[in-house]
Amino acid sequence: MSRHLRVGVHVSIGGGIYNAPDRAYERGCTAFQIFTRNPRGWKYSDLKDDEAIKFREKLEAYGYERESVATHMPYLPNLSSPDERIYRLSFEALINELDRAGKLGIPYVVIHLGSHMGKGIEAGRRNLVRAVEDALAKVDNDVLILLENMAGQRNSMGSTFEDIAVLLDSISLNDRLGVCFDTAHAFSAGYDLRNREAVENTMKKFEKIIGFKWLKVVHLNDSRAEYAAGRDIHEHIGLGYIGEEGFRHILRDTRIIRHPIILETPVDDRREDVGNIMKVWELAGVEPPEELRIRWRAFLASEKRSYAKGGKKTRKMKKIGNK
Ligand SMILES: [Zn+2]
Ligand SMILES: [Zn+2]
Repeated sequence: MSRHLRVGVHVSIGGGIYNAPDRAYERGCTAFQIFTRNPRGWKYSDLKDDEAIKFREKLEAYGYERESVATHMPYLPNLSSPDERIYRLSFEALINELDRAGKLGIPYVVIHLGSHMGKGIEAGRRNLVRAVEDALAKVDNDVLILLENMAGQRNSMGSTFEDIAVLLDSISLNDRLGVCFDTAHAFSAGYDLRNREAVENTMKKFEKIIGFKWLKVVHLNDSRAEYAAGRDIHEHIGLGYIGEEGFRHILRDTRIIRHPIILETPVDDRREDVGNIMKVWELAGVEPPEELRIRWRAFLASEKRSYAKGGKKTRKMKKIGNK
Protein backbone atom coordinates (compact mmCIF):
# COMPACT_ATOMS: atom_id res chain seq x y z
CA MET A 1 0.00 0.00 0.00
CA SER A 2 1.26 3.42 -0.89
CA ARG A 3 2.56 5.61 1.87
CA HIS A 4 2.29 8.70 -0.27
CA LEU A 5 -1.36 9.65 -0.01
CA ARG A 6 -4.27 8.14 1.84
CA VAL A 7 -7.25 8.90 -0.34
CA GLY A 8 -10.46 7.08 -1.10
CA VAL A 9 -14.23 7.23 -1.15
CA HIS A 10 -17.24 6.39 0.95
CA VAL A 11 -18.01 2.78 -0.05
CA SER A 12 -21.20 0.77 0.20
CA ILE A 13 -21.63 -2.11 2.64
CA GLY A 14 -24.27 -3.73 0.43
CA GLY A 15 -24.42 -7.51 0.80
CA GLY A 16 -22.52 -7.42 4.10
CA ILE A 17 -20.17 -5.06 5.86
CA TYR A 18 -17.18 -7.30 5.05
CA ASN A 19 -17.65 -6.45 1.34
CA ALA A 20 -16.64 -2.84 1.93
CA PRO A 21 -12.84 -3.42 2.04
CA ASP A 22 -13.08 -5.27 -1.31
CA ARG A 23 -14.91 -2.34 -2.86
CA ALA A 24 -12.38 0.11 -1.48
CA TYR A 25 -9.44 -1.97 -2.66
CA GLU A 26 -10.67 -2.49 -6.19
CA ARG A 27 -11.27 1.26 -6.54
CA GLY A 28 -7.68 1.91 -5.55
CA CYS A 29 -8.60 3.57 -2.26
CA THR A 30 -5.75 3.93 0.23
CA ALA A 31 -8.33 5.18 2.78
CA PHE A 32 -12.10 4.80 2.94
CA GLN A 33 -15.29 5.44 4.88
CA ILE A 34 -18.44 3.40 5.48
CA PHE A 35 -21.79 3.47 7.17
CA THR A 36 -21.88 0.48 9.50
CA ARG A 37 -25.60 0.04 8.85
CA ASN A 38 -28.46 1.45 6.78
CA PRO A 39 -28.09 5.21 7.32
CA ARG A 40 -31.71 6.02 6.55
CA GLY A 41 -33.53 4.34 9.38
CA TRP A 42 -33.60 4.09 13.14
CA LYS A 43 -33.74 0.33 13.08
CA TYR A 44 -30.71 -1.89 12.79
CA SER A 45 -29.67 -5.40 13.60
CA ASP A 46 -26.69 -6.09 15.81
CA LEU A 47 -23.30 -6.46 14.24
CA LYS A 48 -22.41 -10.13 14.40
CA ASP A 49 -19.00 -11.15 15.70
CA ASP A 50 -18.14 -13.21 12.63
CA GLU A 51 -18.99 -10.26 10.35
CA ALA A 52 -16.71 -7.99 12.34
CA ILE A 53 -13.90 -10.55 12.28
CA LYS A 54 -14.23 -10.99 8.54
CA PHE A 55 -14.11 -7.22 8.06
CA ARG A 56 -10.94 -6.91 10.14
CA GLU A 57 -9.28 -9.79 8.35
CA LYS A 58 -9.87 -8.09 5.03
CA LEU A 59 -8.45 -4.79 6.26
CA GLU A 60 -5.33 -6.66 7.22
CA ALA A 61 -5.13 -8.68 4.03
CA TYR A 62 -5.33 -5.53 1.92
CA GLY A 63 -2.88 -3.69 4.15
CA TYR A 64 -5.18 -0.88 5.31
CA GLU A 65 -3.67 1.05 8.17
CA ARG A 66 -5.95 1.46 11.14
CA GLU A 67 -6.08 5.26 10.82
CA SER A 68 -7.18 5.06 7.19
CA VAL A 69 -10.73 3.92 7.86
CA ALA A 70 -13.67 5.87 9.30
CA THR A 71 -17.36 5.30 9.86
CA HIS A 72 -20.01 7.97 9.40
CA MET A 73 -23.04 8.23 11.68
CA PRO A 74 -26.41 7.51 10.03
CA TYR A 75 -28.48 10.46 8.81
CA LEU A 76 -31.46 10.53 11.15
CA PRO A 77 -29.83 11.11 14.51
CA ASN A 78 -29.87 14.70 15.74
CA LEU A 79 -27.79 14.94 18.89
CA SER A 80 -28.73 18.60 19.34
CA SER A 81 -32.46 17.97 19.15
CA PRO A 82 -34.76 19.63 21.70
CA ASP A 83 -37.22 16.77 21.18
CA GLU A 84 -36.65 14.28 24.00
CA ARG A 85 -37.65 11.25 21.93
CA ILE A 86 -35.39 12.14 19.00
CA TYR A 87 -32.58 13.00 21.37
CA ARG A 88 -32.87 9.60 23.08
CA LEU A 89 -32.90 7.70 19.81
CA SER A 90 -29.96 9.74 18.56
CA PHE A 91 -27.98 9.09 21.72
CA GLU A 92 -28.65 5.34 21.46
CA ALA A 93 -27.54 5.44 17.83
CA LEU A 94 -24.28 7.13 18.81
CA ILE A 95 -23.55 4.56 21.50
CA ASN A 96 -24.27 1.79 19.05
CA GLU A 97 -22.03 3.34 16.40
CA LEU A 98 -19.10 3.72 18.81
CA ASP A 99 -19.49 0.11 19.83
CA ARG A 100 -19.67 -1.11 16.24
CA ALA A 101 -16.61 0.91 15.22
CA GLY A 102 -14.66 -0.63 18.11
CA LYS A 103 -15.61 -4.14 17.03
CA LEU A 104 -14.64 -3.39 13.44
CA GLY A 105 -11.25 -1.99 14.44
CA ILE A 106 -12.17 1.44 13.05
CA PRO A 107 -10.71 4.34 15.05
CA TYR A 108 -13.07 7.16 13.98
CA VAL A 109 -16.81 7.84 14.07
CA VAL A 110 -17.62 11.02 12.12
CA ILE A 111 -20.74 12.78 13.40
CA HIS A 112 -22.87 15.58 12.07
CA LEU A 113 -23.64 18.10 14.78
CA GLY A 114 -27.33 18.32 14.15
CA SER A 115 -29.86 21.08 14.38
CA HIS A 116 -31.17 23.00 17.37
CA MET A 117 -34.51 23.24 15.53
CA GLY A 118 -34.90 26.92 16.29
CA LYS A 119 -34.16 26.65 20.02
CA GLY A 120 -30.84 28.44 19.66
CA ILE A 121 -27.22 27.38 19.59
CA GLU A 122 -26.86 27.33 23.37
CA ALA A 123 -29.71 24.88 23.80
CA GLY A 124 -28.42 22.73 20.95
CA ARG A 125 -24.96 22.72 22.42
CA ARG A 126 -26.16 21.59 25.84
CA ASN A 127 -27.76 18.51 24.28
CA LEU A 128 -24.87 17.77 21.98
CA VAL A 129 -22.25 18.06 24.74
CA ARG A 130 -24.29 15.83 27.03
CA ALA A 131 -24.80 13.21 24.31
CA VAL A 132 -21.14 13.02 23.36
CA GLU A 133 -19.91 12.99 26.96
CA ASP A 134 -22.38 10.33 28.03
CA ALA A 135 -21.64 8.17 25.00
CA LEU A 136 -17.89 8.34 25.57
CA ALA A 137 -18.40 7.50 29.23
CA LYS A 138 -20.64 4.60 28.41
CA VAL A 139 -18.60 3.02 25.61
CA ASP A 140 -15.10 2.64 26.93
CA ASN A 141 -13.05 1.81 23.85
CA ASP A 142 -10.37 3.48 21.74
CA VAL A 143 -12.70 5.02 19.14
CA LEU A 144 -12.64 8.77 18.62
CA ILE A 145 -15.71 10.86 17.84
CA LEU A 146 -14.91 13.33 15.07
CA LEU A 147 -16.99 16.50 14.95
CA GLU A 148 -17.65 17.48 11.34
CA ASN A 149 -18.05 21.13 10.35
CA MET A 150 -21.46 21.79 8.81
CA ALA A 151 -22.57 23.77 5.75
CA GLY A 152 -24.32 26.66 7.46
CA GLN A 153 -27.86 25.37 6.99
CA ARG A 154 -30.55 27.07 9.03
CA ASN A 155 -30.39 26.05 12.72
CA SER A 156 -27.34 23.89 12.09
CA MET A 157 -24.74 23.36 14.79
CA GLY A 158 -21.01 23.51 14.10
CA SER A 159 -21.01 25.53 10.90
CA THR A 160 -18.43 27.99 12.19
CA PHE A 161 -14.94 27.18 13.40
CA GLU A 162 -15.76 29.04 16.62
CA ASP A 163 -18.71 26.76 17.23
CA ILE A 164 -16.52 23.67 16.84
CA ALA A 165 -13.87 25.17 19.12
CA VAL A 166 -16.42 25.80 21.87
CA LEU A 167 -17.66 22.21 21.57
CA LEU A 168 -14.13 20.82 21.85
CA ASP A 169 -13.67 22.99 24.91
CA SER A 170 -16.96 22.06 26.53
CA ILE A 171 -16.74 18.28 26.25
CA SER A 172 -14.84 16.45 28.93
CA LEU A 173 -13.02 13.25 27.90
CA ASN A 174 -11.82 15.28 24.94
CA ASP A 175 -8.83 13.00 24.39
CA ARG A 176 -11.42 10.90 22.57
CA LEU A 177 -12.48 13.72 20.26
CA GLY A 178 -11.22 14.99 16.95
CA VAL A 179 -12.37 17.01 13.96
CA CYS A 180 -13.36 16.02 10.45
CA PHE A 181 -12.96 18.94 8.04
CA ASP A 182 -15.36 18.94 5.09
CA THR A 183 -14.28 21.30 2.30
CA ALA A 184 -17.73 21.61 0.68
CA HIS A 185 -19.38 22.37 4.01
CA ALA A 186 -16.74 24.97 4.94
CA PHE A 187 -17.08 26.67 1.55
CA SER A 188 -20.84 26.79 1.76
CA ALA A 189 -20.64 28.09 5.33
CA GLY A 190 -18.55 31.06 4.18
CA TYR A 191 -14.91 29.87 4.28
CA ASP A 192 -13.52 30.55 0.84
CA LEU A 193 -11.30 27.91 -0.77
CA ARG A 194 -11.23 28.98 -4.42
CA ASN A 195 -7.64 30.14 -4.79
CA ARG A 196 -4.32 30.25 -3.01
CA GLU A 197 -5.02 33.32 -0.96
CA ALA A 198 -8.46 32.08 0.06
CA VAL A 199 -7.13 28.65 1.04
CA GLU A 200 -4.31 30.19 3.08
CA ASN A 201 -6.79 32.45 4.83
CA THR A 202 -9.19 29.65 5.66
CA MET A 203 -6.38 27.40 6.89
CA LYS A 204 -5.03 30.23 9.01
CA LYS A 205 -8.45 30.60 10.60
CA PHE A 206 -8.69 26.85 11.14
CA GLU A 207 -5.34 26.80 12.90
CA LYS A 208 -6.09 29.83 15.01
CA ILE A 209 -9.63 28.99 16.05
CA ILE A 210 -9.71 25.16 16.11
CA GLY A 211 -6.09 24.04 15.74
CA PHE A 212 -4.76 21.41 13.33
CA LYS A 213 -3.87 19.12 16.21
CA TRP A 214 -7.56 18.16 16.32
CA LEU A 215 -7.81 17.27 12.65
CA LYS A 216 -8.02 13.52 11.97
CA VAL A 217 -9.95 13.09 8.73
CA VAL A 218 -10.65 15.31 5.72
CA HIS A 219 -13.85 15.08 3.70
CA LEU A 220 -12.76 16.37 0.34
CA ASN A 221 -15.79 17.42 -1.70
CA ASP A 222 -16.39 20.12 -4.24
CA SER A 223 -19.58 22.14 -3.82
CA ARG A 224 -22.55 22.49 -6.14
CA ALA A 225 -23.80 25.18 -3.77
CA GLU A 226 -22.29 28.62 -4.29
CA TYR A 227 -19.93 30.31 -1.87
CA ALA A 228 -21.62 31.00 1.49
CA ALA A 229 -24.92 29.57 0.23
CA GLY A 230 -25.54 27.64 3.45
CA ARG A 231 -26.47 24.51 1.53
CA ASP A 232 -24.95 21.05 1.51
CA ILE A 233 -24.61 19.78 -2.06
CA HIS A 234 -21.51 17.82 -3.00
CA GLU A 235 -19.88 17.86 -6.43
CA HIS A 236 -17.05 16.05 -8.24
CA ILE A 237 -13.59 17.35 -7.38
CA GLY A 238 -12.86 20.41 -9.50
CA LEU A 239 -16.25 20.55 -11.20
CA GLY A 240 -17.98 22.64 -8.54
CA TYR A 241 -17.64 26.16 -7.18
CA ILE A 242 -14.39 25.42 -5.31
CA GLY A 243 -12.78 24.30 -8.56
CA GLU A 244 -9.48 22.70 -9.49
CA GLU A 245 -7.36 25.64 -8.50
CA GLY A 246 -8.80 25.64 -5.01
CA PHE A 247 -8.19 21.93 -4.56
CA ARG A 248 -4.66 22.19 -5.89
CA HIS A 249 -3.86 24.55 -3.02
CA ILE A 250 -5.82 22.60 -0.42
CA LEU A 251 -3.94 19.45 -1.42
CA ARG A 252 -0.54 21.12 -1.21
CA ASP A 253 -1.06 21.84 2.49
CA THR A 254 0.82 19.14 4.40
CA ARG A 255 -1.43 19.67 7.43
CA ILE A 256 -4.28 18.43 5.23
CA ILE A 257 -2.72 15.65 3.17
CA ARG A 258 -1.09 13.85 6.05
CA HIS A 259 -4.60 12.71 7.02
CA PRO A 260 -6.97 10.29 5.31
CA ILE A 261 -8.79 12.13 2.51
CA ILE A 262 -12.33 10.81 2.02
CA LEU A 263 -14.37 11.75 -1.04
CA GLU A 264 -18.14 11.87 -0.69
CA THR A 265 -18.59 12.82 -4.30
CA PRO A 266 -21.45 11.81 -6.62
CA VAL A 267 -21.39 8.84 -8.97
CA ASP A 268 -22.93 9.78 -12.30
CA ASP A 269 -22.34 9.95 -16.05
CA ARG A 270 -19.76 12.68 -15.74
CA ARG A 271 -17.42 10.82 -13.44
CA GLU A 272 -17.33 8.12 -10.82
CA ASP A 273 -15.25 7.19 -7.80
CA VAL A 274 -12.03 6.20 -9.52
CA GLY A 275 -12.10 9.38 -11.59
CA ASN A 276 -12.31 11.52 -8.45
CA ILE A 277 -9.57 9.56 -6.68
CA MET A 278 -7.25 9.95 -9.68
CA LYS A 279 -8.04 13.66 -9.75
CA VAL A 280 -6.93 14.05 -6.14
CA TRP A 281 -3.55 12.41 -6.79
CA GLU A 282 -3.14 14.61 -9.85
CA LEU A 283 -4.01 17.86 -8.07
CA ALA A 284 -1.86 16.93 -5.08
CA GLY A 285 1.04 16.52 -7.49
CA VAL A 286 1.87 13.08 -6.11
CA GLU A 287 2.78 10.26 -8.47
CA PRO A 288 0.54 7.27 -7.74
CA PRO A 289 2.28 3.90 -7.46
CA GLU A 290 1.89 1.57 -10.42
CA GLU A 291 -0.16 -0.95 -8.44
CA LEU A 292 -2.85 1.69 -7.93
CA ARG A 293 -2.89 2.59 -11.60
CA ILE A 294 -3.36 -1.07 -12.43
CA ARG A 295 -6.37 -1.29 -10.12
CA TRP A 296 -7.90 1.87 -11.51
CA ARG A 297 -7.54 0.60 -15.06
CA ALA A 298 -9.06 -2.74 -14.13
CA PHE A 299 -11.94 -1.07 -12.36
CA LEU A 300 -12.69 1.32 -15.18
CA ALA A 301 -12.66 -1.54 -17.66
CA SER A 302 -14.81 -3.88 -15.60
CA GLU A 303 -18.49 -4.60 -15.31
CA LYS A 304 -18.39 -3.03 -11.88
CA ARG A 305 -18.26 0.31 -13.54
CA SER A 306 -21.81 0.04 -14.74
CA TYR A 307 -22.81 -1.10 -11.27
CA ALA A 308 -21.16 1.94 -9.79
CA LYS A 309 -22.69 4.22 -12.39
CA GLY A 310 -26.13 2.87 -12.81
CA GLY A 311 -27.77 1.51 -9.69
CA LYS A 312 -30.18 3.93 -8.14
CA LYS A 313 -29.40 2.48 -4.77
CA THR A 314 -25.70 3.16 -5.13
CA ARG A 315 -26.34 6.73 -6.18
CA LYS A 316 -28.55 7.30 -3.20
CA MET A 317 -25.97 5.85 -0.85
CA LYS A 318 -23.36 8.14 -2.31
CA LYS A 319 -25.36 11.25 -1.61
CA ILE A 320 -23.89 11.31 1.81
CA GLY A 321 -24.58 14.40 3.81
CA ASN A 322 -26.99 15.88 1.29
CA LYS A 323 -29.98 15.94 3.51
ZN1 LIG B 1 -18.69 15.15 5.03
ZN1 LIG C 1 -22.28 17.16 3.09
